[in-house]
Amino acid sequence: MPRSSASQEQRPITALRGVGEALAQRLARLGVAQVQDLLFVLPLRYEDRTTVIRIGSLLPGVRAVVEGEVQLAQLAYRRRRQLQCSLSDGSGFLTLRFFHFSAAQQQGLARGTRLRCFGEVRRGPQGLEMVHPEYRRVNGAAAPPEETLTPIYPLTEGLSQGRLRELIGQALRELDTETVRDWIPPQMLEPLSLPSLREAVRYVHRPPREAQLGELEAGCHPAQRRLAFEELLAHQASLRLLKRAARTEAAWPLLDAGTLARKLVSSLPFDLTGAQQRTLGEVEADLQRAEPMVRLVQGDVGCGKTVVAAAAAARTVGSAPTDAPGEHFQAALMAPTELLAEQHWHNLVQWFRPLGLDVALITGSQPARTRRSAMEAVASGDIRVVVGTHALFQEGIEFARLALVIVDEQHRFGVQQRLRLKEKGSRLGRVPHQLIMTATPIPRTLAMTAYADLDISAIDELPPGRTPVRTVVVPEQRREEVVARIVQVCRAGRQVYWVCPLIDESDELRSQAAEETAALLAEALPDVQVGLVHGRMPSVKKDAAMLAFKAGRIQLLVATTVIEVGVDVPNATLMVIENAERMGLAQLHQLRGRVGRGAEASTCVLLYRAPLSPLARQRLQVIRESNDGFEIARRDLELRGPGELLGTRQTGLAQLRVADLIRDADLLPRVQEAAELLIAQYPDNIAALAARWIGTGEQYGRVG
Ligand code: ADP
Ligand code: MG
Repeated sequence: MPRSSASQEQRPITALRGVGEALAQRLARLGVAQVQDLLFVLPLRYEDRTTVIRIGSLLPGVRAVVEGEVQLAQLAYRRRRQLQCSLSDGSGFLTLRFFHFSAAQQQGLARGTRLRCFGEVRRGPQGLEMVHPEYRRVNGAAAPPEETLTPIYPLTEGLSQGRLRELIGQALRELDTETVRDWIPPQMLEPLSLPSLREAVRYVHRPPREAQLGELEAGCHPAQRRLAFEELLAHQASLRLLKRAARTEAAWPLLDAGTLARKLVSSLPFDLTGAQQRTLGEVEADLQRAEPMVRLVQGDVGCGKTVVAAAAAARTVGSAPTDAPGEHFQAALMAPTELLAEQHWHNLVQWFRPLGLDVALITGSQPARTRRSAMEAVASGDIRVVVGTHALFQEGIEFARLALVIVDEQHRFGVQQRLRLKEKGSRLGRVPHQLIMTATPIPRTLAMTAYADLDISAIDELPPGRTPVRTVVVPEQRREEVVARIVQVCRAGRQVYWVCPLIDESDELRSQAAEETAALLAEALPDVQVGLVHGRMPSVKKDAAMLAFKAGRIQLLVATTVIEVGVDVPNATLMVIENAERMGLAQLHQLRGRVGRGAEASTCVLLYRAPLSPLARQRLQVIRESNDGFEIARRDLELRGPGELLGTRQTGLAQLRVADLIRDADLLPRVQEAAELLIAQYPDNIAALAARWIGTGEQYGRVG
């Protein structure tokens, strides 16, 4: 592969005529940095401007092209200063109305000028009119109409439709083999009957007048599928390269001579489910190898991922390096929130102490001295099992012999962070094994696409004896009934969560709302012990409240969505979620997963404030009808689109420009095959594809 062609492709946008720094900055907001990027700014829709309509046959509401002569142009002052032109083609009159116009523009619209205009026709005070139409002067009576459909592009401030269209036109004129290369070998495209890259690009920007608008707007035209295929392939191949690169590094084989994993599992008060056993088997098989494990464990809320992680940690710390038989390896568990880190720590202490092992907790809100001594014990190797928050692991913590990193709730944790983390343990010339746990259930094909750099295990079974949570949707006006229900539940010895609304993105406002709600509920329920947890409380207080709730001293816990992930109190059987209409499906499912953890039947009350948008109504219906995380994820995909489901920080797929994982799902098996072929036979093309679709310094900066 001649390098020069790749660099030819990477010409900066400023290489185009008339593009200076200011315009380049605006274009950057559309993701355009290089000339070729312009070609991949795709139209949002198209307009048919290929036929000029007679003014006399215009109807209000249509968008149309007309042509005529300016009969009269005058300034008018009805409420605002404005320029009015009367245009005629002999069949009728049309008013053009401008509220913003320059002196030059006004002169250009003088009586007798011939114009071609495009705009929406509406009824005005003097008959039909167009407000701020797009227009240009035409010379001669029969200027040819547009030959292709007109693309309408996404815009950014300071960049007009006309200017962008013109820039893309320039890029299209330069479109030849040297400026934009087809990096996909033709034999991969033939079975799919997809056009070449250049044909595809030309078509989407300049569809012929006879093109099917419906097909184009649905994104189903072969030209669009060609681009979607390429985009998916770029992601897929890059992720796979990442996976291969990870596998070529060395890791410590963890043989667990002390059989700590077995001891931990047999000390549990329950048997592992079949799915837990299978997953643990997969994890343990990986851990015994000298190449690093990079495995994702997917499992619905409450399926019991934590014990699997704990057993993996036990295998790790029960293993000794061959060159230093007296030493032991370390395992670290990272949680997305302090609350969760603390809860994991409590659990691990309970499981590891009988094995004679201490567990360190490291969080940001700990007193500095406590944290420092924990960090010292970790650095010296005295402590082998460490629990902490994600943030902390990115700062100055040192490990003596880190061999396993467990990341809980990976949906808050991106590819980039995983890469950084790997470096933590690589001081000894080996990288740690990685175990990533997520409760965001995504369908299999999607998982294989989004997590192509990982191996995947699924815990697709809940521990026995759980009763599905009953979910009811209740309007805000019936809040009092719900409050009365709390009394009953507490009298029966059970506990209740009350989740406060997402009124604002700010932690402060949310916390304030939670405080007020807690005060109101405490007043309304004098016999009930009310506690409060929110994001801005000092960790000691949060911890105390959680522990009191776990121990049953608090009966009603008012909380913000900080309790969203992982919190485990099996005696809680009622959850009330305020303003449920504002929350996404994944979040509602996560929250609801806090109840229904024991054998007792549980209820989740979704309080909503009317009126409901159609989308909110559908979401509430989905969550009411299903308890199955995979089913909910599937519906979520349909309702929201995959980017949102995965979370923008999670994978490169969140930034798909052309492809749509639902619409283009049928391409995925071919994408997988093509990715394999590309890696095997055309590895150099992958970097060029990644540069085109993913961007250079970003997610996969080290690919290629
Ligand atoms: P999640 O997968 O959502 O992280 P947890 O690991 O918090 O779930 O487990 C949920 C609850 O189920 C915990 O109380 C845990 O002790 C319990 N649990 C886990 N595995 C089993 C099992 N095999 N049988 C019974 N209870 C289990
Ligand atoms: Mg969990």
